[in-house]
Parts: sequence; C-alpha cells; structure tokens
Amino acid sequence: MNEWLERAQEKDREDKLAKYKKEFYLGEAIHYMDGNSLGLMSRPAERSLLDVMEDWKQHGIDGWTRGNRPWFYMSERLGEMMADLVGADAHEVLATNSTTMNIHQTVRTLYQPTDDRYRILVDDLNFPSDIYAVQSILDDYGHSDGMVKIPSDDGHTLSTEAIIDRMDESVALVLLPSVLYRSGQVLEMKKLTEKAHEKGILIGFDLCHSIGSVPHELKKWGVDFAMWCTYKHLNGGPGSVGGLYVHERHHNLAVSLKGWFGNNKETQFDMAHTFDQARDISQYQVGTPHIFSMAPLLGSLKMFQEAGMMNIRRKSLELTSFMMDMIEAVLEGHEVEIVTPRAHAHRGGHILIGHPKAAGINAALKSKGVIPDFRAPNYVRIAPVALYNSFEDVHHTVMILKEIMDDRLYEQFDNKRGVIA
Ligand SMILES: *Cc1c(COP(=O)(O)O)cnc(C)c1O
Repeated sequence: MNEWLERAQEKDREDKLAKYKKEFYLGEAIHYMDGNSLGLMSRPAERSLLDVMEDWKQHGIDGWTRGNRPWFYMSERLGEMMADLVGADAHEVLATNSTTMNIHQTVRTLYQPTDDRYRILVDDLNFPSDIYAVQSILDDYGHSDGMVKIPSDDGHTLSTEAIIDRMDESVALVLLPSVLYRSGQVLEMKKLTEKAHEKGILIGFDLCHSIGSVPHELKKWGVDFAMWCTYKHLNGGPGSVGGLYVHERHHNLAVSLKGWFGNNKETQFDMAHTFDQARDISQYQVGTPHIFSMAPLLGSLKMFQEAGMMNIRRKSLELTSFMMDMIEAVLEGHEVEIVTPRAHAHRGGHILIGHPKAAGINAALKSKGVIPDFRAPNYVRIAPVALYNSFEDVHHTVMILKEIMDDRLYEQFDNKRGVIA
C-alpha cells in the first residue's frame, strides 16, 4: 500500500501547480472532492470581492465608471478573461445571467424554425434545467413535439455516431453538454460541430462541467454558441454569474430577450424607447449585472490565466488517472464500478463510481472529511481538482474509501440522498 503513497508524494513534488492549494480555503473538508459542483473559495476571489465592496463604499453611484474595476464594463471584462478558457475572441464572450437563462437567451435568439426544420436535438443524459429550458422554448414557438433526445446505450455515455445519425433535415439546432455531468464523458465537440454544419444545423454546447477543467477551441471548431456556470470549476462562489459565448457571425440577429444592458453602451443612457442593440456579445445581456456575484471571478480567473489551461488539464488527467488506477488496485473484489470512460480524449475532470450502497458510501465519506457527491440511484461522483487537490489527497481519499468498504461502514448510514446531492 505504501507504494501508492510514495507515488503520490513523488507526483506532488513534481507538481508545478501545487503552490495554488494554499490559496484556497478548505473549510471543514479534509479532502474536498466536489469542485465540479461548487468550487472552493480562494484568497484572490475573496480579495476581489472585498475590493468591489470597497469601491461601493468609496464611490457610491460613481462605482459604475470609476475605480480599477468599473461595474459598467465588468461583464465584458470578465468575458475577456474567460475568452482563452473557451478559445474564442474577447468580443464573443461575456459574463451574464445564469446558465439556464443563457440557454433561453441564445436558443430563443438562434432558433428560427420553419415548417420542415424545427426540431431541437438534445440527449437523454443532460442536466434537467437544460431540458426544461429547451422544452419551454419549443412550447412557446408552437413546436411542443420538436425535442429529439439521443438515447444512451449504456445509460452513461453517448455515441458520436448515434448523435450524427439523428442530424437530419428536420433538425434546426443541437444543444449538448461538453462533459456529461454524471459519467464525465467528453463529447467530440469538433466533429459534432463539423457534421451539424454540413447539414445546415446550428450547434451549441453547455460547458458547465468542462469550463476551467478542459480546454476548448470554440472559435476554431466553429461552434455557434455556448454557455457555462462559473461556480463549479471556476470557483466564482455560490450562484456566481454565468458565462456566454456566441460566434460573431450571429451578432447581427435580433436578440430575443431584450433589456437595456443589451443596448449599445454609448446610447444606453439616452434612455430612448428604441432598442439600439450593441454590436458585440453585450447584446445578449438583459438587465443590470449582479456585480457582487461577478466580483470573486476577477480574482479567481487570474489564477486560471496564470496557471494555464493546458497545465490544469494535464494535472487533472493525472489526478483522475491516479485515482482510477488506485481504486482498481486496492478495491478489487468490492464491486466498485468505474463508470467514467478511461481514454483521456473521452473524459473530463471528474469520475463516477457505482455501487448499490452508493448513498451510504457517500455519507460515510463525508463523515470522514472527504467531500464527494452522490448521484441517484447508485453513484458517487468525485472530482480531484488541479488547483487545490494534491495526489496525496487522492491517495487518502481512496484509502478512506477502502476502509469504508472493508469495514462496511456504509451500513451505518441511510442509503438515501439528502436534499442537495
Ligand atoms: C450546473 C449546471 C447547470 C446549472 O444551471 P444554473 O442556471 O446555473 O442553475 C445547468 N446545466 C448543466 C449541464 C449544469 O452542469
């Protein structure tokens, strides 16, 4: 067993990102493994939030245009800071609204159904909010029966070919996740985009589980639109403002949800009743931005810029590989199933393991200071995060899991989920 610990410690010594761990507050967790649900608070994020509160204290209303972080331009400023994370140009990326709202705004704007081409392609494994949003849009456009859901053969992953097969002349738009929130599978975004465009179909991706964990080349791939939340891998804090990308070729459309922050900034305060739509991604904004829910990102995103997405991805893959290898080696005979695809090209930053007593195992892990999350009916999701988890964290987590399995400690806990799982 010691051999795994030695390996972990050696990897930690070689780890160039190790220095970031001390920038984070671990709270009550000993090994926090839930960064894909809610990222931890960092000192830079705390500082930038306090700075913005100070701006309010000092400048009052003039904080909109004064100081080092004028609020009037903060959504665009954060867009610039996120552009590299998604591989797009700065004028195509914005911090605004929530993921769900950004789905409404982009899909409502880009979806232009005709009698023959009106279907929206989604998948059977996506997060419920995305599905609710798409269904409500279809209902509003009079195409309630227009949703096509790609089924999954194994209940965990999607086949690229199966998705491409469903891209026919009746499909107007495709919305898929980049990384599936349960199994952690990464979809082949480049190929899917190419195939969609060959068929004249618009395509967008929900990057909630890949942003800050997996690099993207949205512009190069030609992706039409994308949205993501910033409170998972980007550590923006609970409910932090979401991110949005729309390819510049769609900046000439009339946005569906109009509001004064989508107006050209030069004329916004003319207060005219004719909407003078902004020329860039700002047009997708609606109302006044939630400044305090963006402020932590100013500090947090700086760390991503400094650490570099390629380095983050490399370490993330090593962490998850190490974890899966170790689980297979030390938990042999325990019926713990690793659901996540093994190939680097096919997985994101978290792993999913299955066991009939998963809820009890999850509760037992939490009682021992390991924070994963449970996904019904039988799965535990674990995300060792490059910026604040070490290989030793991973080692200890697996050893605690082994103890729980060996001693059947999960039997001391109800095998059911809590309100937030
Ligand atoms: C986390 C997540 C959401 C959350 O959307 P909000 O509008 O921020 O609540 C939506 N979709 C996916 C795929 C997610 O992972």
